[in-house]
Amino acid sequence: MAEAKTAICFIDRREHMEIDGRYLKDLEPATRNLIKGDYPKSKVTDFICDHDLLKYQLMRVDGMVNSDVKQTQKISRRLTKAMQSDDYDIVDVNDNLAKSLTFGQRVSDAVARFGGSWGFIGVFTFVLVAWMCINALHLFGMHFDPYPFILLNLALSCIAAIQAPIIMMSQNRAADRDRMSSENDYHVNQKSEHELRILHAKLDNLTQNQLPHSLEIQKLEIEILGQIRTELDMIQRNQLGNPKSGLNGNPQQENENSSEKDS
Ligand SMILES: [Zn+2]
Repeated sequence: MAEAKTAICFIDRREHMEIDGRYLKDLEPATRNLIKGDYPKSKVTDFICDHDLLKYQLMRVDGMVNSDVKQTQKISRRLTKAMQSDDYDIVDVNDNLAKSLTFGQRVSDAVARFGGSWGFIGVFTFVLVAWMCINALHLFGMHFDPYPFILLNLALSCIAAIQAPIIMMSQNRAADRDRMSSENDYHVNQKSEHELRILHAKLDNLTQNQLPHSLEIQKLEIEILGQIRTELDMIQRNQLGNPKSGLNGNPQQENENSSEKDS
């Protein structure tokens, strides 16, 4: 029979029909390498029956699943480690500064706050105008600082001299607060970047390893299903062929049955 080609499985040395097995050159490289590992002398032109091939296909699936699980665990460990190794405590800047404030610093803050407000300008203008009016117009019979108001000049100079360092003290502490909060931001950013890198690695692993693997596993599953189908067909053929009652309406099956008997 021309269509019923047979081949000898190089593992069990038995004769099989060609459709019941594969040549090594038709296999996936990874599966072929597994066979080569067990049988170093095998050639690409060798034939392997489905029964023996199944073992290597299952080994291949096992290998892929194991490597995927290992890789996922590795990345998860890295992520956990990165999250645990973060020893920088985020500082609550405002709370921290408020606790360490001395009395002098509180006063300087209050002075700086009042000195930079419209209220201060209003009050100061009123005092200046009142001072000048009282001394220029001799109101209430008082003229303790006659024109050109030298005492007022002295008082203003003194206020300016004291207010400047007080405001500078307050500004220094504002700078401190900014420095602390930017330090916080820096650490948070660094941590986010690190975690993002690991998430990237996770995603890459998913798309570059696990997805192709699961597709390959699917392919192997379909192949194994095909093999089961062929074997079922064979069993059916044998069952139908034994009684020879002519129930079998498929002439090709009869041909194959007869060719099996021939071989
Ligand atoms: Zn075999």
